[in-house]
Amino acid sequence: MGPIPFDNSYTRLPGAFYTRQEPTQVHRPGAIRVNHALARQLGIDPDWLDSAEGIATIAGNHVPEGAEPLAAVYAGHQFGSYNPQLGDGRALLLGEVLDRNGQRFDIQLKGSGPTPYSRGGDGRSPLGPVLREYIVSEAMAALGVPTTRALAAVSTGEPVIRDRALPGAVLARVASSHIRIGTFQYFSAVGDHASLRLLVEHSLARHYPEFAGAESPALALLQCVVDAQAALVPRWQALGFIHGVMNTDNMLVCGETIDYGPCAFIDDFHADKVFSSIDRGGRYAYRNQPGIAQWNLACLAHALLPVIDADQDRAVELAQAAVDTYPDKFLAAQSRCMADKLGLDRLEGDDKALVDALFANLDTHGTDFTLAFRRLYELAGGEPAVGELFEFPAAFAPWLAQWRARLAADSLTPEQRLAVMRRANPVFIPRNHLVEAAIRAAEDRGDLQPFHALVERTARPFDFDPDDRPYATPPRPEQVVERTFCGT
Ligand code: AMP
Ligand code: MG
Repeated sequence: MGPIPFDNSYTRLPGAFYTRQEPTQVHRPGAIRVNHALARQLGIDPDWLDSAEGIATIAGNHVPEGAEPLAAVYAGHQFGSYNPQLGDGRALLLGEVLDRNGQRFDIQLKGSGPTPYSRGGDGRSPLGPVLREYIVSEAMAALGVPTTRALAAVSTGEPVIRDRALPGAVLARVASSHIRIGTFQYFSAVGDHASLRLLVEHSLARHYPEFAGAESPALALLQCVVDAQAALVPRWQALGFIHGVMNTDNMLVCGETIDYGPCAFIDDFHADKVFSSIDRGGRYAYRNQPGIAQWNLACLAHALLPVIDADQDRAVELAQAAVDTYPDKFLAAQSRCMADKLGLDRLEGDDKALVDALFANLDTHGTDFTLAFRRLYELAGGEPAVGELFEFPAAFAPWLAQWRARLAADSLTPEQRLAVMRRANPVFIPRNHLVEAAIRAAEDRGDLQPFHALVERTARPFDFDPDDRPYATPPRPEQVVERTFCGT
């Protein structure tokens, strides 16, 4: 066996699912960063990944034994408009591996050159978006949010032409699979119901094997994806994370966060916050994320109708009922997240009003989201960290008094409370101005140190170290980043 223990399954699906495609060679591959811990988990020798052959593999100059590179086809709604033909336009699935626990993962190269789905694009990625995805996806993993991972990033030694020439890079991305809502939409829209059925079977076997024998596999899959998204999006909301491009091709049926293009964490909280330069209508604003996820699930339901039940009226009824479970499941998961953040055993009685009042206060005062919640942990008795950086404005006093009174009546012991609150309220998130500064240093000066430092710091988001205070500090006015770019 070669250096990557491939065990591919997507290639066993018919040719309609993908086009086999070799990566395009690059001029001069160079290491940026290799994720040793993740490599080990996947059964890949980190020293090999660090070697010239490992770097050449990520760059696409070397195709290792067992790899069967392919570009997958998919479609999707982008900002609400259906695009019948998307697909891996600047990415290739190198193959799949089984990790130490027997769990299957895709290894995908992003920025590896043109494919039949490139639609005139160059199939390449500038360095900036590769660094952003590396930083934010690894931070999300450390925060405990289901997410794709970054296995390695390499430079290509070639410029990528956007509004100006930028250094090029390739990211090796790891996901439980890259099967998207848009993958189902593609086969449904072209009327290929046999492939749609196969994709349902493949996805169920891979992600939800306990439902593989369901009477209606497509309905079972729909319900599993509803559940997964209803569990995921509250995690984003609880961290002030804005995805930025919740198109149906950027939602995975496995329930992992994918596509860290224009994403950002909120500093000063506003529920209608938007960062993405192309999201002019605020479709993917913070407050809209829960509803958009449901809209996307309705797209999946629609795509699955032909294979849910031969009787289409019945299929609509069943699919609708599955999607209709989303709001309550979302609210239950959100309630769990908020109980943890506030240090309560669970939300009950008037607690929902307490939470709403806190968010209203945060919004009114544009309070720093991360520091405000971490400060609650301190006020509950947690070890001091952010007190020097942040104090609640005086206007929060009535709310804080209510919260303290509620804590006094709660059943959690102080020890339990602090343990739960600590895990729910990070000190370190990859703040947007630091991500931007890391990208600027790398792109403009070839200096990767700020990138490495940010990755390392956000890998332990809950553990405060006074030396790292700058990473916990909100941006000064001149550092604020108002807009993010997909960078494609
Ligand atoms: P995204 O905005 O990253 O979700 O990408 C949407 C679609 O555009 C996908 O089909 C991508 O593969 C494709 N795409 C994005 N950037 C490029 C590029 N530089 N070259 C070719 N295809 C691209
Ligand atoms: Mg995408």
